[in-house]
Amino acid sequence: MTDPRTAYLELLRRSREIALLGSCSAVLSWDQQTFMPPAGTTFRGEQLAFLAGLSHQKATDPLLGELLTIVESSELMADPSSVEAGNIRELRHHYDRAVKLPQRLVEELARVTTLAQQIWQEARATNDFRLFQPHLEQILALKREEADAIGFTDQRYDALLDEYEPGLSTKTLQILFADLTAQLVPLIQRIQDCGRQPRREIFQREFPADRQRWFAESAAAAIGFDFQAGRLDTSTHPFCSGFGPGDCRITTRYNPHCFSEAFFSVLHEAGHGMYEQGLSAEQFGTPSGSYCSLGIHESQSRLWENQVGRSEPFWEHFYPRLQQAFPTALRDVSRQEFYFAINEIRPSYIRVEADEATYNLHIVLRFEVELDLLSGNLAVTDLPAAWNDRFRTMFGMMPTSDREGCLQDVHWSFGGIGYFPTYTLGNLYAAQFMEAAHQALPELNEEFRRGIFSSLKFWLSEKIYRHGRRFRAATLCRDATHQELTAKPFLKYLHGKAASVYNVC
Ligand code: ZN
Repeated sequence: MTDPRTAYLELLRRSREIALLGSCSAVLSWDQQTFMPPAGTTFRGEQLAFLAGLSHQKATDPLLGELLTIVESSELMADPSSVEAGNIRELRHHYDRAVKLPQRLVEELARVTTLAQQIWQEARATNDFRLFQPHLEQILALKREEADAIGFTDQRYDALLDEYEPGLSTKTLQILFADLTAQLVPLIQRIQDCGRQPRREIFQREFPADRQRWFAESAAAAIGFDFQAGRLDTSTHPFCSGFGPGDCRITTRYNPHCFSEAFFSVLHEAGHGMYEQGLSAEQFGTPSGSYCSLGIHESQSRLWENQVGRSEPFWEHFYPRLQQAFPTALRDVSRQEFYFAINEIRPSYIRVEADEATYNLHIVLRFEVELDLLSGNLAVTDLPAAWNDRFRTMFGMMPTSDREGCLQDVHWSFGGIGYFPTYTLGNLYAAQFMEAAHQALPELNEEFRRGIFSSLKFWLSEKIYRHGRRFRAATLCRDATHQELTAKPFLKYLHGKAASVYNVC
């Protein structure tokens, strides 16, 4: 088979097969986290392992390499911005990563991280870091091996980051995060010093779960999540899983004594879901029909959760409706008081509970710790003390236990080193996209006040959804916002928030 067109179509066919296997696994995982009875766990593990094995076999088939060689030297690559060239570039990237990893290393990582996740749960529950320590040491050794097998030009971390945020270098990230931290720390300090506090107790009142569900579902539908092509269910940890065209699942959990928990997680997951629903159905299973990067994915959730969902115009529309839905809890709460409460900025120990400003310091801390762990500058045995020291420097508070410190997140136990930065990248991209959207659509806030969100969704679809992975994140961002990714729009947004909520500039 030497005809490049035929080779290209065969590549796409194989890519779709791998994606179909992935989407079957996604259905099984979604079911496991929502409806599966507990006794089904072992058999579900067997089903998922079987599909993962099949998928790995297909992803490393040497014929893929031969097909790629044929298309790479053809006229299909003539225009680097074409769908074809984008698909070929990403399929090569994926294939190279897959074949560079020895089978032994892949299996060893799967074995070690499966056990480590179980041990981490136990270690966190009993606040016993020593239990987790040898497993984290093993994981780091394997991740170093993985980075070396994949290769890098500058820093080892680059090879791991590349899995989640293709094309982004550690160096760029370090500059971006340094800019961010330099302004974020003093801003948070000024907010702390001003002494203003919202009425926190308003969220601890009675918010019946079924009403919360109804309200969150109607807000998700209003911003544009398509319930004909998606569902909202309940799980221990909220997530979004796009199975493929016409079927995207989002989940949340309801705390009857905390309204904000489920509501904002639904907006967040609906943002992820709208991105999945907006990907090209015709290109399903090819890079052009897949999400661009984890940072871009996260930008779509953060944009709806925070940039839109915590804005004044949004609540000018929704607050009267919220008061109607929860008359007892919110009768004596003004919209301004509510707005303050959902926008409180206050340092706390747990990342997933953090506000939109301090959240990023949690990420910067993890990024710096990961760099030091991977390079060996920080020994795993010294991790709890190093974590607490850094935490005190950044947040002015000292964790009282490892459960509140280095044991709080699951990511390292599944080998997700290089993953954390994508959360803050999401915040930065979201602010930059939103700034560009406001410039292009000056009526946006007025529309939000009237409960209309379709212009923004359309803009996102044009600039982001429909391109899938045809372009790398840096190009996508430049095309959509006419500038490279910087921390400036996010910092400007936060300063605006601080001024409106705290009277602090
Ligand atoms: Zn997310």
